[in-house]
Amino acid sequence: LRVVALAGGTGSAKLLRGLSALGVNLTVVTNVGDNVWVHGLYVCPDLDIAMYTLAGLANRKQGWGIEGDTFRTLAQLGRIGEPTWFALGDIDIATQIVRTRMLRDGLTLTSVTERLRKAFQVAQAILPLTDDPVETRILTPAGYVHLQEFWVRDRGQPAVRGVAYRGSSQARFTEKVEKTIKGADRIVLCPANPVTSIGPMLAVPGFSRMLSSAKAKVTALSPMVGSVPFSGLAAKLMRAVGKRPDSVGVAQMYSAFLDSLVIERKDEGVKGEIEELGIKCVPSDTLMEGLSEEKRIAKVLLEA
Ligand code: GDP
Repeated sequence: LRVVALAGGTGSAKLLRGLSALGVNLTVVTNVGDNVWVHGLYVCPDLDIAMYTLAGLANRKQGWGIEGDTFRTLAQLGRIGEPTWFALGDIDIATQIVRTRMLRDGLTLTSVTERLRKAFQVAQAILPLTDDPVETRILTPAGYVHLQEFWVRDRGQPAVRGVAYRGSSQARFTEKVEKTIKGADRIVLCPANPVTSIGPMLAVPGFSRMLSSAKAKVTALSPMVGSVPFSGLAAKLMRAVGKRPDSVGVAQMYSAFLDSLVIERKDEGVKGEIEELGIKCVPSDTLMEGLSEEKRIAKVLLEA
């Protein structure tokens, strides 16, 4: 079974672990909207969490970075007077150095990612949605800031007046992504922030249309329980862009292409509203706290 998973960061990684454990032929297509330049290095948090997760190296508890990594370089950067709000571990920095050097040598992000995942002995393909720059910008009372500045530096606290995906209208999804989506037997949207992880992908012209015309069924796992996300700021950002902050809102945001949505069992009451959108709704236990739950939910999604 050829499964394509659209992935963001920490929530998505859990489902990737489950899908990978089921032994399906998995390709991961990741968001690039939260990529960021730090200390002259090009950091791709969503590509890296997918790669570290599939390599069995991810720091599960933290939700980013490498298990057992240390932060001596970061501490020294601080002593030199550099900003340290974006943490990069000593081992993680090696990935960032190599990626940045390869990009400087003229390789595309797709080729760099392919080389890195081979070096990390990851069996599954990992594809950035696009090789073009797309940057998620959050409009706060102080003006537009990069998503990482809003989320990591400012701890998601400023009021949000809008969200923009800078560069998206000129961006093109890669040929590899197109081939993968067209050849898939199943397309799965990982549980992810619909505004900051999936939104930047849907903002790339033609991508939503390609999902809706794919021969494969498209299924998503909702990141919400009632009007609260399992983690992060999905509700705040959905509200900020005028969407209803619950699984119905998620269904509405994906209704152009979604065939089925797995929602939390406690939210069974909204099943009818989701099915009115022409989307099959499957209530289940959707909290993933360990590999057995990750595998079980991956299976529910493939059958939904
Ligand atoms: P980010 O880039 O770190 O924000 O990562 P994602 O967008 O991939 O993941 C965050 C989303 O995953 C949040 O909206 C969470 O509510 C959701 N999430 C986290 N853990 C779980 C879980 O165990 N189950 C489900 N269904 N969603 C989860």
